[in-house]
Amino acid sequence: MICELGAAGTTLDDVGCDEAMAVLHIYVDLAAAGQDPAERYPGVAAHFAACGACAEDFAGLLMAAASD
Ligand SMILES: [Zn+2]
Repeated sequence: MICELGAAGTTLDDVGCDEAMAVLHIYVDLAAAGQDPAERYPGVAAHFAACGACAEDFAGLLMAAASD
């Protein structure tokens, strides 16, 4: 997964693709459990808002988790 975000596209809170992918499964678990993962991982939420590729991964995993 390669994201083409330059420094101008990131924010201070944005953890970046590597960190977002590292906690993605936990983030999905929290969301699927009806909790608010953005509260625990605000930097990851900021990343999904900034990075369409990671946001798509999250949406796909969440749909898979929800239909499980
Ligand atoms: Zn990303």
